Amino acid sequence: MSRHDHQHHEGESLKVAARERLTREGEQWTDMREAVFEALAGFDKPASAYDIAEAVSKAQGRRVAANSVYRILDLFVNSNLARRVESANAYVANAHPDCLHDCIFLICDHCGQTVHLDDDSLSGGVRQAAASAGFSAPRPVIEVRGTCGDCEDA
Ligand SMILES: [Zn+2]
Ligand SMILES: [Zn+2]
Ligand SMILES: [Zn+2]
Repeated sequence: MSRHDHQHHEGESLKVAARERLTREGEQWTDMREAVFEALAGFDKPASAYDIAEAVSKAQGRRVAANSVYRILDLFVNSNLARRVESANAYVANAHPDCLHDCIFLICDHCGQTVHLDDDSLSGGVRQAAASAGFSAPRPVIEVRGTCGDCEDA
């Protein structure tokens, strides 16, 4: 990993870091965006736009459409506030909105629990291999499926 103050935020500190990042991008941290971010960060496994719309609707006592949640998730992904877990077809809050990495996800086949790792030497190798094969602007998607420690012990 390149030398920087890599920090995984959680809770209130994650929300503050996400808000700072989004506003630095020139975007507004609206009540709706905050509600979507809080719901997303509240899940302990990847969540779909429908899961999040459900959670926000419950929290606000009014119906929130999955479509508007989807648009906000899209903005979050583009601003490094959220990551898409491709093999789960769902989203997780990005614990490090301040810095960019090719995040690596380990996803449990049984409970869906997802571990987020950052190892730039690993993803850098994949980028290099892609570049050697004549692939430009590579965007490594590295996801590992298996059985998490909790499910193994159960
Ligand atoms: Zn970092
Ligand atoms: Zn990451
Ligand atoms: Zn598991």
